Amino acid sequence: MRRALAILFDAAAALSLALCVAAVGFWVSSYSHRYTVGADDGNTEFTGVLSRGELGVRIQRAVTPDTSRERGGVELSSFRGPAGDLLREAMIACPGAHPPVIGFFFGRQLRAGVSRTIVALPMSFLVVLLVGPTLVMVRSRVRRRRRARRLAGGRCVGCGYDLRATPGTCPECGRESATVAVNSPLDVRP
Ligand SMILES: [Zn+2]
Repeated sequence: MRRALAILFDAAAALSLALCVAAVGFWVSSYSHRYTVGADDGNTEFTGVLSRGELGVRIQRAVTPDTSRERGGVELSSFRGPAGDLLREAMIACPGAHPPVIGFFFGRQLRAGVSRTIVALPMSFLVVLLVGPTLVMVRSRVRRRRRARRLAGGRCVGCGYDLRATPGTCPECGRESATVAVNSPLDVRP
């Protein structure tokens, strides 16, 4: 069970790290390119845009859904184009909204039976949100690996001192038996 948890934890750490690296890559690249992804089911249109370090999401939907249209699923799209000023575009799309504050924007508008919501935030904010948990996970994984390596090698899990000649209490750091030491949140014994 603990082994399965450890594998799951490793997978989550790896995924989180990959997401982080991808986010930083797109963030840097967004200063020269504009990335757009979209989904449209006929009545609701979702668009996500990354450009010049700004991440924007727009949701546009018909207030009275057109039931005559065949709802044949969701149409997905993505493309890359030249970078542009996303916040300026958001202001034009929602003229009544409060101007952006340090890269954050929220706008909502209802016109001609279509409701439009635009949310924008700095990509740096998202990257910081991703980096925190990733660092914690990677650090924990490194610690767990080090602990297992030290235990296997007959060393103190606290300082790595060779305990093969002096089992019991570590003469270097005073830690008792290596097997008693609990270093990782995953090492909870039943
Ligand atoms: Zn020690």
